[in-house]
Amino acid sequence: MTESLENNNKFTIKYYKEFLTLAKDQGYLFVTLRDFLKKGCPSKGHVVLRHDLDLKPQTMQKMLDVENELGINSSIFVRITGNAYNFLSYPVLHMIRKAELDGHEIGLHTSCVEFGQINKVDPLKILSLECDLLSKFVNLEGIAPHRDLNYAYNSLPYIEKNWDEIQKLGVSYHAYQKQIEDACVYVNEGFNPHLCWRKYAPEEVIPTGNSMCILTHNHWWYDVHPFEEWR
Ligand SMILES: [Zn+2]
Repeated sequence: MTESLENNNKFTIKYYKEFLTLAKDQGYLFVTLRDFLKKGCPSKGHVVLRHDLDLKPQTMQKMLDVENELGINSSIFVRITGNAYNFLSYPVLHMIRKAELDGHEIGLHTSCVEFGQINKVDPLKILSLECDLLSKFVNLEGIAPHRDLNYAYNSLPYIEKNWDEIQKLGVSYHAYQKQIEDACVYVNEGFNPHLCWRKYAPEEVIPTGNSMCILTHNHWWYDVHPFEEWR
């Protein structure tokens, strides 16, 4: 018989629900990034919940279930190119389209510079392809660059430098625009050396009433342990 240890995973679905409920009870309004920009990026009382769908797309549904139960919306950025998962696989596409029907916003999580470097092609060509494909299935307006933890290709400087061209692809915003960053306390996961909040925990910011952009990665959030999807 193995001794039962206390679960040391802070990033549980239960905790996710707890801090979202706390923010909701405090009177925070949850808006998608598109709506946050349309409202002029208010610096008080708003939460933008952002998901970067990097890995294990099948585990995001638990977080969406919590949001749907609480009646709040998030902005989900999905990858089209890269090796992580196939956006066009039946369950992933189904989940994303259902999420949009439930009121969540879908954007593109692009690694166009990485793809361009590895395949020796123009990043704008890849970005154009990604936007075309994603907009066939969802109402695409926003993009957020992906950056892999273990190597350095970052698409953000490219996106900022080529923003005029990129807007012609039908994109109206990117997630790191200055007016978003200026208006929000940025809450996201980090490592020190293990998984933690990078700077602030949501429950530390909530009492201030300041607007927050909470960026999470579903593959780090689970009920009990990271392999439970195989139960
Ligand atoms: Zn990413």
